Amino acid sequence: MSPADADAHAAPDYAVFGQPVAHSLSPAIHAAFGRQQSIPLRYTAIDVDPDAFATKLARFADGGGRGANVTLPLKEAAAALCASLGENAQRAGTVNTLVRRVDGWHGENTDGRGLVRDLDHRAGLDLRARRTLLIGAGGAARGVAPALLDAGIADLYVVNRTGARADALADALGEPGRVHPRYLEDIAHLGEFDLVINATSAARTSAALPTLPRSLLAPRAAVVDLNYGEAAVPFLAWARSVGAHDIVDGLGMLVEQAAESFALWHGVRPDTDPVYAELRARAALLVTAD
Ligand code: NAP
Repeated sequence: MSPADADAHAAPDYAVFGQPVAHSLSPAIHAAFGRQQSIPLRYTAIDVDPDAFATKLARFADGGGRGANVTLPLKEAAAALCASLGENAQRAGTVNTLVRRVDGWHGENTDGRGLVRDLDHRAGLDLRARRTLLIGAGGAARGVAPALLDAGIADLYVVNRTGARADALADALGEPGRVHPRYLEDIAHLGEFDLVINATSAARTSAALPTLPRSLLAPRAAVVDLNYGEAAVPFLAWARSVGAHDIVDGLGMLVEQAAESFALWHGVRPDTDPVYAELRARAALLVTAD
């Protein structure tokens, strides 16, 4: 076997675990970061049934796996498999980044930092004092909510189809005077917002979000969808139709959260702009799969 063949057949050092994960852009993003930083790495996508996740992750570690990303529907399960959790993972209750340490997996959540970095550095939004509506209370909402609070937003309203999950997220955030869980059906009665974020996967399912009223948007409001590509089309079309001042999809967040993971593994934060630009050029063709 040639050295190149041996390299190709070696176990991956890094991987993204999820289901489905075939459309994940993470392997391409991390390969690009590695080339840019002259850091050789093998990063693959591993489709895994939730029941088999613990076993496959242990096998990956035994084979020399040094780090992993975790996506739908495994982010909470990943937190439970960690020997230690970083502050963001603790606050989110979910893990999207695993770092191999001598005592086992260390879990962190980079989604929130990734989103805030994209909104302030790339989109140029000052998040401070924005009255914020977060639609959704799943893993992504849990990941981004603490970072939004840290970034200085004003009150945070969390609405979710399943009200109990909005309640649970608000409880976990532990700021009852500032964080307000509400039912999705009450969304028209919550006043106007400076920042509206779609953190649902509704566009990836057969059931759409209900039509949202124009009255949700304050003048100069920003509308953000954590989805990108096809899955961001309905929500961002609504944002345009109601005259949102700023409209941002989830592509920048995807690249920025990956850069945060890369920094945890390799100790250096890559330059995200060229990777973002390359993906943006074909954004319409992309399938959301963080
Ligand atoms: P998740 O844990 O499965 O949560 C899904 C959320 O969407 C829940 O709040 C769920 O409400 C809601 N939802 C699903 N279908 C709905 C519908 N028809 N009507 C109303 N609400 C609906 O998923 P997640 O991890 O939070 O991810 C959410 C989305 O964000 C995904 O599309 C994901 O790809 C994307 N994301 C993007 C990035 C990025 O880097 N850009 C990172 C993370 C996630 P219930 O609780 O009532 O079921």
